[in-house]
This record gives sequence, C-alpha cells and structure tokens, in this order.
Amino acid sequence: MEHAVRDELKQTIQQTGLQMVHDGMTVGTWGNISLRDFETGYIYISPSGMDYTSIQPQHVVVMTTDIEIIDGEAEPSVERHMHAEVYKARTDVGAVIHTHPIYSSVFGAVWMDLPAVSEDFAQIVGSQARCCPNYQLPGTAELGREAVATLGAYNAVILPNHGALAVGPDIRTALKVSQVLEKNAQIYLLAKLLGTPRLFEQKDIDTMQQFARQHYGKKNVGLI
Ligand code: 13P
Ligand code: ZN
Repeated sequence: MEHAVRDELKQTIQQTGLQMVHDGMTVGTWGNISLRDFETGYIYISPSGMDYTSIQPQHVVVMTTDIEIIDGEAEPSVERHMHAEVYKARTDVGAVIHTHPIYSSVFGAVWMDLPAVSEDFAQIVGSQARCCPNYQLPGTAELGREAVATLGAYNAVILPNHGALAVGPDIRTALKVSQVLEKNAQIYLLAKLLGTPRLFEQKDIDTMQQFARQHYGKKNVGLI
C-alpha cells in the first residue's frame, strides 16, 4: 500500500524550528526536530545544518525508523540515529526535540543530573532529567543508544558537553518539555545562589504526573 507523505507535518517541523530559535533554545543551525506520523510510522525530521529561517517544507526529510529515506530534498539531521533510536525504544513518543540551550547545558558541562525543583517540570518530565554517564560524539549511533539508555521512561535527558533531548506524545508537548527543562535548570542554578534547593517527595511527583496526564487542560481542549 502506498503511504501518503503529509505536507502539513513538514510545515509543523518548519514552524517548530522557528519557535525553538525564538525561545532561545539553540543557536545557529544546531538542534533538530522530528515527529512521528502514527498512521504510517514515518518520521519527519529537520534537515542538517540549515538555518531555521531558511528551512522550507520540502527540506524536511521523511524516513523510516530504520533510516530509509522516503521523501525530502535535503540531507536529514546528523542526529537521525538518535531520533530513530528514541522512536524504536519508546512507542509512546510522537516527537523528539534536540536543543543546545544554555542552562540545561550547564548541567551537561559538569555531567550532573538535574532534579525537579518546579512543578511544571515535575508534571511533564518527572523527578529529574538524567545526564548521560558517557560522552559520545554527535551524529553517532552510540550517542543515540546512550541517550535512549539514560532517558528510560523520563521525557528529557541531558547530553554531556552537548545539549538536551526532550520527547513527548506530540510535538507541542515535546516543545513544552524542552521549555520547562530549560526553566527548571535556570531555577535550580539560581536557587543554589540563595541556598539549598528543596526537592519534591516522589509521591507528590506521582500525583502531579497523573493529574497532568489525565486532567490538566483536557476539558478545555475543545475550546481551541
Ligand atoms: P543537524 O544540523 O545535522 O541537525 O545537527 C545539529 C546538532 O545539534 C548535532 O548534534
Ligand atoms: Zn546537537
């Protein structure tokens, strides 16, 4: 059966790239974005080394999780292995966003896990974003395996001396995860200036995660 490539999903990648730059979560051409079309199983991924303001829908690459290229005029992101590994390991994930943000990268610079200190982070990421225990070069399959192993069931991971990776069931959530990860990192660092950051109890994190998954904003979805 011939599977359709959907232009609106290419546009979503293009628009999310612009948003990521607008939010200051990467510099230059770094970072990359992908989403999964659950109907076809195809992955839509940003092109490699292109300025986000220059990316057009036709540059977005459509591929399988085995990195078989289906469509797209440009070369896909060098991190296609990392994105593909996440989709293979996490069947719940519908979007992956890799950023090079400042505050999360500070934790990557000292190879330190980032604990939850703000509620939004606790709700959609969990008790922490772990930092990978080993450095792997960008664009390698090893980086993908390392990121997936450290990500586990969490929604974000810190890549040592590199940046961050956020995942979600859809691209809006993955973008939100990227944003609260960066905010939590900034708050943690500022809190350290004042005193000792106080951490949540796990039972409160579990309650908040359940609320976020099952109730938060759900009744108002139809109003958008
Ligand atoms: P791409 O431009 O190929 O997506 O790579 C950027 C990057 O962040 C590599 O880790
Ligand atoms: Zn990178």
